[in-house]
Amino acid sequence: MGLNIADNLKTILHSLPEKVTLVAVSKTYPIEAILEAYNAGQRHFGENKVQEMIVKHEDLPKDIQWHLIGHLQKNKVKYIVPFIHLIHSVDSFDLLLEIEKRASNAGRIINCLLQVHIAKEESKFGMDEKELNEVLEKMHLMKHTHVKGLMGMATNTDDLQVVKQEFIELKSLFDQLSGKEIPNTSMETLSMGMSGDYQLAIECGSNCVRIGSSIFGKRK
Ligand SMILES: *Cc1c(COP(=O)(O)O)cnc(C)c1O
Repeated sequence: MGLNIADNLKTILHSLPEKVTLVAVSKTYPIEAILEAYNAGQRHFGENKVQEMIVKHEDLPKDIQWHLIGHLQKNKVKYIVPFIHLIHSVDSFDLLLEIEKRASNAGRIINCLLQVHIAKEESKFGMDEKELNEVLEKMHLMKHTHVKGLMGMATNTDDLQVVKQEFIELKSLFDQLSGKEIPNTSMETLSMGMSGDYQLAIECGSNCVRIGSSIFGKRK
């Protein structure tokens, strides 16, 4: 990628259709790098670790919209509920219950995406279709927690056919659920696509891409 963060950001933004949200994934990058993107107009930032997000939230302008994209442990929910914009990585009903409890205490509505396991790798987090449906059947129990869509990560492979197939699978699940009336749920956001595969993800129907290294440079 190009010369600096602002240029990289501009190039990527120009290539995105208007309705696609860009989450700049700032995990591992320093405050100065995030400020450079912020000063170029970027407001949505993604982190995968709660502790790192808290520190950055404290140190950075308060109009940043923070997205949690990594696995969330129940005992850490309370730390992000006061300020989080969107949790992409909800992967169990237990976690939703904890978010509900903390959101209620804080008097906030917390918006979440349900993470679906689409990759072939065992290691990736996320629910299968059965678990997803079980969670959605219990959404009437929520008062302060809203499901706004789905998130998925494709297999980490150079075989774009495999990646494409996984994206198509997730989009089809998203469309199927969009047609249903589910309490506290509206299928608005389909979060899929990272630096290596976001163009393909958009072709397959993504409207939210999570891009780190193509903006900030190679991670150490
Ligand atoms: C790190 C990360 C990204 C961004 O990855 P890049 O390849 O740097 O764009 C996107 N999504 C999740 C869940 C991540 O952990």
